[in-house]
Amino acid sequence: MSLRLSRITLREIRLALREPFEISSGVTTDRRILLLELEDVDGIKVWSECVAGERPNFSSETIDTAWLAISEWLAPRALSGSVPHPSSLSDKLGANIRGHLMARAALEMGGWALWAARESLSLSRAIGGTRSAIATGISLGIQPTQATLVDKSRTAIEAGYRKIKIKIRPGADIEYIAAVREALGADAPLMADANSAYTLRHADHLAELDPFNLMMIEQPLAHDDLRRHAQLQDRLATPICLDESITGLDRVEDMLALGSGRIVNIKAGRVGGFTPAKAVHDLCQHHGLPVWCGGMLESGVGRAYNVALASLPNFTIPGDVSPSARYWQRDIVIPEWKMDANGMVTVPTDEPGLGVRIDVDRVDDLTDRRQTLRGA
Ligand code: MG
Repeated sequence: MSLRLSRITLREIRLALREPFEISSGVTTDRRILLLELEDVDGIKVWSECVAGERPNFSSETIDTAWLAISEWLAPRALSGSVPHPSSLSDKLGANIRGHLMARAALEMGGWALWAARESLSLSRAIGGTRSAIATGISLGIQPTQATLVDKSRTAIEAGYRKIKIKIRPGADIEYIAAVREALGADAPLMADANSAYTLRHADHLAELDPFNLMMIEQPLAHDDLRRHAQLQDRLATPICLDESITGLDRVEDMLALGSGRIVNIKAGRVGGFTPAKAVHDLCQHHGLPVWCGGMLESGVGRAYNVALASLPNFTIPGDVSPSARYWQRDIVIPEWKMDANGMVTVPTDEPGLGVRIDVDRVDDLTDRRQTLRGA
C-alpha cells in the first residue's frame, strides 16, 4: 500500500529537564523540541520528533535550521506525490540536499510510523525489529564533584540500569571514572563519552582510562576525524565507539577501513532516518561490530522511535532509552515510558504504530509555534 501524505504540522514545544544535563560542549536546562504531526490522505495521523538541539554543539543542525529545512524544502517534497514504501522516502527527501540529516530523519521516520499504522504493525516490527524488550543504560552528564557522580552511578545501578555512561571532558575524566569504578566494583558496566573534547595530544592521558576496563570510550576526538581516531585506537586497549562521526553508511565503511573504532552508537536522527540507520546496522552486523542506540534528550515521541530502532537484532549493547521520568517531570506520551527493575524497557509490539498515544492537550499547552503545510 503506497504512502501519500496530505498534511504536515510542525510544532515547537519547550520541556523543562528535571535537572540540567552537561556534556563537554555545553549545558541543557530546557529542551526546545520540534514535533511533527503527519497525516495521510485517509486521515491517519502519527507524530514524530526532530532530535536537533538548540545550539549547533552536537552537529551543525539546530531546531531552527531544521524548522527552516522542513518547512521550506523537505515537507513540500514529502507532500508531493506518493511513495510505494517508506524505504523510498530517504532518497526522495535527500536528493540534491546536502546535510539537514536530522530534519530529513524526522519526516522519514514519521513516514515509517505512518506506514506501520496503516499496515497495523508496530513500528518495531515494521522496520524489522526482533526484540520484545530493550536493555537500558543511563547517560550521566558531567557532575560538579566525583562524589555526586558516584552517588548517581550507584543509584542508577540500584534502579536496574544495565550500562552507566559517564560524560567526560579534560579536568573531569580519569579521577571521576576511577572513583566510580572503585565505588561500584570491577563488574559494573561503565563507559565514557567525551563528545569530541580531546585531541590526539591527549592520547597518553586517555590511555590512563585503560586500567578501568570501560566497555568503550565514545567519540573522544573531532566529529569529522576518522584518521586520528584510528591512530588513537592503536594506542588504546579500550574500544572506541563512534557517535558524531557516523553520519551515514560511507562513514562506517571508512571507520572499518581505517580501524577508527570497534563499536557504533546509532542514532537514526544523525544518519537521516530509519533506512540509513538500518543500513548502518546491517553493515556493522556483517562485520561483527556491535551497535547500540544513543539518545538525544528526546521526549516520549522520539523515545518510541529509539525503542523501535533498538529492537533490531544487532543492538547487543544496552541503549540510552531511559524511562520518561529520568528526564521529564511529565512526558507528552501516554503511557509514559517505564523501565523494570532489571533495566528492561518493553517494546510495544502489540499495538500499531508508535505504541504510545500523544497527550495532545499537554502538547497544545506547551506549543510555542506551529505551522501547517498541505499537499496539492
Ligand atoms: Mg555520544
